[in-house]
Amino acid sequence: SNQALVDTALRARAAKVIPGGMYGHLHARNLPPGYPQFYARADGCRVWDVDGREYLDFMCSWGPVIAGHKHPAIDEAARKQAEQGDCMNGPTAKLVELSERLVGMLPHADWAMFQKNGSDATTAALMIARAGSRKRKILLAKGAYHGAVPWCTPSVAGVTAEDRAHLIYFTFNDIESLEAAAREAGDDLAAVLVSAFRHDLGTPQEMPRADFARAARALCDRQGAALVIDEVRAGMRLSLQGSWEALGVRPDICAWSKAIANGYALAAVTGNDAFRQAAQQIYITGSFWMGGVAMAAAIATLDVLESSNAIQHFEQMGQRLRDGLQRQADRHGVRISQTGPAQLPLVLFADDADYSRGARFMAEALKHGVYLHHRHNMFLSLAHTARDIDHALQVTDRAFETVANAAAH
Ligand code: PMP
Repeated sequence: SNQALVDTALRARAAKVIPGGMYGHLHARNLPPGYPQFYARADGCRVWDVDGREYLDFMCSWGPVIAGHKHPAIDEAARKQAEQGDCMNGPTAKLVELSERLVGMLPHADWAMFQKNGSDATTAALMIARAGSRKRKILLAKGAYHGAVPWCTPSVAGVTAEDRAHLIYFTFNDIESLEAAAREAGDDLAAVLVSAFRHDLGTPQEMPRADFARAARALCDRQGAALVIDEVRAGMRLSLQGSWEALGVRPDICAWSKAIANGYALAAVTGNDAFRQAAQQIYITGSFWMGGVAMAAAIATLDVLESSNAIQHFEQMGQRLRDGLQRQADRHGVRISQTGPAQLPLVLFADDADYSRGARFMAEALKHGVYLHHRHNMFLSLAHTARDIDHALQVTDRAFETVANAAAH
């Protein structure tokens, strides 16, 4: 059925006991009409809402699901650890094993520390940079998302100017603006914080230019500051060695979360020996940070990614989707832009400042069981097959027709 009776009832109950009925990035208010708020289950590359409607999922829980929902080997590793215990008076051996694993995988890393959310990791990364450099100023890109705590949350409600006192903004990929921000920091520069690639909400994505990456590295070396890459979104989808490794630029510190444990709650900070002592000096912790289940899941996730040609799979599936969408858009005379890495697809419509065209397209696809996003980049997983992409493309062809018809009226 196309009716959202259970979802509607849950929203009404939620409105009474949850401020706004929902909060944060998963609030259905930010989606086109027809998208569910509440989900019942997931499997592979599919999710089911509380009314039993099935969707081919291109959001992957906004990134965490990288091997597919309910991946058997990962869930088995988590279950085995859960049978032994999860939250104890200290970590399990999995903490050491996972740290060794990340240090072995990531050429930049000599050590690792674990948290739960991406915001924990980006915040800890900056604390380590400040402790190590004994400086205060952080340079970061205008419009970039680094989490939802006072220094970086997109809303200013509940935030003081002091929370953001030592932040100076530059433009991603713009060396001149980076140098200008560094001049403003003077001899008080603690870190350059930059996303693995530019993925600001609702704007075209951009890969980092090699000369920009090198300029950021040189600037940090010159000033004794830390080059910090926010890998929370891109991590393990562009490369298993770190997203800037292909550019020949190694960061001092990286923040990870989302995909590293295939949906189990885990974040990590990795760093090099120059910042080991600083990482040892700062005090960070959390009641749930040492839970063994998520660490077991992370080790199993890395096993799966390393043994499956994962990056090539994401690229190929993303490119298949991108090529198909472009052919359809051309055929229907609809102008779209697709930017950034194919494995984190973003589709924007031309002359669509209010995203209404994108919303119309995505709402039509959703009606036919394909779950896309009109403003945020999407995600692929190992569970997406060529057949799934082709199925999605049958649906998007009709969605383009709807957009083309609406434009003609
Ligand atoms: N950095 C980036 C690049 C992100 O995409 C996100 C999450 N969307 C975060 C940080 C924050 O992660 P979390 O929501 O887990 O705190």
